[in-house]
Amino acid sequence: MTIIIDGKEISKKILAEIKAETKLLYNRYEVKPGLAVIIVGNNPASKIYVKRKRQTCQSLDFYSEDYDLDESITEKELLNLISDLNNEPSIHGILVQLPLPKHLNEKKILNFINYQKDVDGFHPINQASLLTNESLILPCTPLGILELLKIYNIEIEGKHSVIIGRSNIVGKPLSLMLLRENATVTICHSKTFNLEHYTKQADILISAVGKPQFIKENMVKENSVVIDVGINRLEDGKLVGDVDFENVKNKVYAITPVPGGVGPMTIAMLMKNTLLACKKLSL
Ligand code: NAP
Repeated sequence: MTIIIDGKEISKKILAEIKAETKLLYNRYEVKPGLAVIIVGNNPASKIYVKRKRQTCQSLDFYSEDYDLDESITEKELLNLISDLNNEPSIHGILVQLPLPKHLNEKKILNFINYQKDVDGFHPINQASLLTNESLILPCTPLGILELLKIYNIEIEGKHSVIIGRSNIVGKPLSLMLLRENATVTICHSKTFNLEHYTKQADILISAVGKPQFIKENMVKENSVVIDVGINRLEDGKLVGDVDFENVKNKVYAITPVPGGVGPMTIAMLMKNTLLACKKLSL
């Protein structure tokens, strides 16, 4: 029987642990993890993600500040807001929902966040810490994937992990994190010749491409583990991953569904990072 990796259930357990620790922290030190969530403009997908993050904050009794900014905000105004939040002791995490409108320089804005409050793990200092094995704040999606593999006792050491996608938020950091766990790592991307050649060798295949039905049954190795990071909305509104789930699931040892796999873990790891940042900055 194939194992369907239940990210939704696991994330609930992790959030319950975070909530308990938050309560302890408050009782002992009168400190609450504080997260500022900034959204610019009206991107519908971004609004859904932000709503979920804010609801999760509330359910954990975190302190949260919401900034819903008009599309016309200038870069200087946004940088001023981030500067204030960088200096605000009750805020331990600052999240700027991506993508930003074109007139705002995404890199400049993310780099301006105090790296100790960069709970997304996108700041160059946090990203570089992966190279030196220091691991300051790690990016949420790769962190969530590693948690899932560990909780399901899926061995990583010595296994061939093939990642499709080389973004700074998923593919690249995940490759370093798996390498640190002693996996043999291959990274594929849009310029990779003969993708199947690599995917068929994967003991652990991770797809972070953003194309529905991209990974077919004939591309995966029997009894492998398939992690689907993709989030794709079909014309009928249905949410699917990159993997042809119904067919691939019959061939593999374990697989994550979409929705209910990696997605909920990403939010749980964001909350975990905020709690960790709070402890580092306040205690
Ligand atoms: P991205 O920056 O668009 O990167 C996509 C990657 O896929 C790129 O590296 C690209 O290669 C590669 N690619 C595109 N077409 C390909 C092809 N035909 N063959 C092989 N590789 C190909 O995306 P991202 O931000 O990493 O996100 C990827 C997907 O994951 C999206 O669906 C996103 O919504 C989802 N996501 C989910 C979560 C979650 O919590 N579940 C979190 C983050 C992202 P090049 O580099 O050569 O262009």
